[in-house]
Amino acid sequence: MSRPEELLTRRGDIKPRTFVAPGRINLIGEHTDYNGGFVMPTSIDKHFTFTISPNGTDTFHCIASDLKESKAFTIHDLKPGHGWHNYLMGVIDGLVRRGKVPSGVDCEFGSTIPVGAGLSSSAALCSGFGFALNELFHFGLDRHELVKIAQESEHKFAGVKVGIMDMYASLFGKEGTVMKLDCRSQVHEYLPLQVGDHEIILIDTKVKHTLASSAYNDRRAACEEGVKLIRTKFEEVDALRDVTPSMLEVAKPLLSDEVYRRCHYVVHEIDRTTRAAELLKRNDVSGFGALMYETHWGLSKEYEVSCEESDWLVKFASEMKITGARQMGGGFGGCTINLIPQHLRAEFEKQVREKYFTAFKKECDFYSVKLADGVHEVVRQ
Ligand code: ADP
Ligand code: MG
Repeated sequence: MSRPEELLTRRGDIKPRTFVAPGRINLIGEHTDYNGGFVMPTSIDKHFTFTISPNGTDTFHCIASDLKESKAFTIHDLKPGHGWHNYLMGVIDGLVRRGKVPSGVDCEFGSTIPVGAGLSSSAALCSGFGFALNELFHFGLDRHELVKIAQESEHKFAGVKVGIMDMYASLFGKEGTVMKLDCRSQVHEYLPLQVGDHEIILIDTKVKHTLASSAYNDRRAACEEGVKLIRTKFEEVDALRDVTPSMLEVAKPLLSDEVYRRCHYVVHEIDRTTRAAELLKRNDVSGFGALMYETHWGLSKEYEVSCEESDWLVKFASEMKITGARQMGGGFGGCTINLIPQHLRAEFEKQVREKYFTAFKKECDFYSVKLADGVHEVVRQ
């Protein structure tokens, strides 16, 4: 298998350029995006690296180096499917539909983002490839447009109805900050995250979310049902974003017990995310951590999208006086996100590894993450 540099040298083409596209975490604001609410994501120091150059043909030669796989296709071959190349095809399709037609490239990429652990490797793949093509061919699209192209690729080419948060965080993240993203207006505000003597650690439950897509649709339906009923009392309500905790109490008699619990979680989670942003501005890490625990037990008891393993990890974190912990992502496994005081880190990790194995007969993984810049070009000297 030829590496792009060799291909390029053979063809005597322009030097390849390098682009980085990070995965993301979300500190707070879970299942709020499709309710028009707030989320608080940022990009991290686990990322794709693309080496890419126009090759003067109409063929896209792409190499996924981690998988040792390569694919070659033209814009006439674009189609949905379940391979990594379908995400890339979806990005090219989005560009073409905007009148931005790229010619062929040689592209090799690899990644340090664990796949399927809730760090959005797929969004990073789409965001980075779109950004790179936009730069190489001087298309002049802004990052908002690249967010849309990445999202459309996931929807149309991978068949996954994701919100905008993942690609937004990958494209707009800024080192040392998180963003409070308003999913309704798609406007974000950067907030400095000074965790001081804390580390952000993800613990991978190694539980794959097999229930996720049907449960996701079911939760969305419960939220829509809630909005429909609450609107009979408050006609200005278009989404749970418009419902305050006290409005929900007024409307409670109209809702089934289940719909009320789902709505209660979302309405309070949107409120928590706003309060969490205020706490960050005051640099109140322990107040922030307390809200993360509240989110977790809301996800577990009211929204019912947790699992035994996540609940165990969060409960144990609380017993060990960890500042904040909760399940991150759509639910039923994936990672928990933990704000851990440095002096507790080693002992906590040791105990979790031992006890988790005893309880569940499988190993969990620890990933230490730092906040890093969003998608960008790496300029070599
Ligand atoms: P995640 O939560 O990480 O986004 P998804 O299932 O949505 O999980 O996306 C994972 C998909 O992204 C993989 O099946 C693959 O198609 C693509 N992908 C992720 N990392 C890589 C990689 N290093 N090389 C090739 N494809 C990758
Ligand atoms: Mg994904």
